Amino acid sequence: MSAVPTELKDPGMTAIMEGALSKIAAGELTLDAFMNWQVDWLSKLIETIESQEISIETNIQTVECPACGKDMFLRQGKKGQFWGCSGYPDCKTVAQNNNGKAVFEKDMPDCPKCGKKLRRIKGKKGFFWSCKGYFDEPKCEFMTQDKAGKPV
Ligand SMILES: [Zn+2]
Ligand SMILES: [Zn+2]
Repeated sequence: MSAVPTELKDPGMTAIMEGALSKIAAGELTLDAFMNWQVDWLSKLIETIESQEISIETNIQTVECPACGKDMFLRQGKKGQFWGCSGYPDCKTVAQNNNGKAVFEKDMPDCPKCGKKLRRIKGKKGFFWSCKGYFDEPKCEFMTQDKAGKPV
């Protein structure tokens, strides 16, 4: 993500500037005219940057952390996107991401076998649901397919 407009990165712009400077040197263009044009171009550029910054800010989604009330942001983890609390490391609240929505463990459906919470996991062939009790003793191996973000 970059807020620098393409005009600034455009090598063609440098050529135009150099061309204008050589015209001034040759007396074909007055310095005043060049400065006016440059000011005009710069103010347009600044407008572009400002409008882009506004759109970037409104694109940032936040969710209120249920534990501490701070904002939670969508973060990129090794296994995909998840919601993390901005109060980290004091607050370690995380939530799974389901189509841009934060899904907290307390909102997760219960396992029909043992009553513990189910977790939505991204596998090689897509999402599936697995019981949190998989890591417990006695182990619960309940697993089910995912349909539109819900266990089947
Ligand atoms: Zn928090
Ligand atoms: Zn279970």
